[in-house]
Amino acid sequence: MRGGSDIFKDALFDTGSGGPYHARAMGNPLRDRRTPSELAASGQLIEFSEKINIFERLAEIVGGDLETLDPDRLPPDWRDRVVSGQLNFGFADAQDRLPMLQGKVTVTLDLVCQRCLEAMQLPLAVELRLLFGGDESAAVRDDGYDIWELEEDTLRPLDLVEEALIMAMPLVAMHFDSKTCQGPEQEEQHSGEKIRPFAALRSQMESDD
Ligand SMILES: [Zn+2]
Repeated sequence: MRGGSDIFKDALFDTGSGGPYHARAMGNPLRDRRTPSELAASGQLIEFSEKINIFERLAEIVGGDLETLDPDRLPPDWRDRVVSGQLNFGFADAQDRLPMLQGKVTVTLDLVCQRCLEAMQLPLAVELRLLFGGDESAAVRDDGYDIWELEEDTLRPLDLVEEALIMAMPLVAMHFDSKTCQGPEQEEQHSGEKIRPFAALRSQMESDD
């Protein structure tokens, strides 16, 4: 294994407040732009632990979502949430013609619950099993790989991680647990009373029969 989270942390601290990154000179594999074949041929393994703030588009989406909250309701550390994961590049075929990536990325996002409009935490865990290529890759598509289309010849693993996380975000975020969700049904209840919105809904449906 090369790299390690310490290197990335140093790179992050160097940059201060959102200035240009100089990590390329340090050979940060997460930020370096390379072809899938180069990554695969070197068997590139990338383990990372990075604050969400360096994923600019993702941070923009989360920040935009949180904008609807009153400032005093804003989770103070949402920019410090850590995106961590492991990316493992290689070839999917014996002839070394089909670059692939297997990996896992996790993060907990702060979002606004669209039912109760309060802040909520959404854990995301994304499994990656990707092939880079066109027609040839049809042969192994049945192995459970997804095809990752590249607009350019090269890719930045950081961009790929960001895109995968954005794709994994739900269209509408809501508290999983109705007990933590201060949804509309619950505002009619007296505070301190045990909230059972679904039981109330059920009895309402039964009385409708
Ligand atoms: Zn909620």
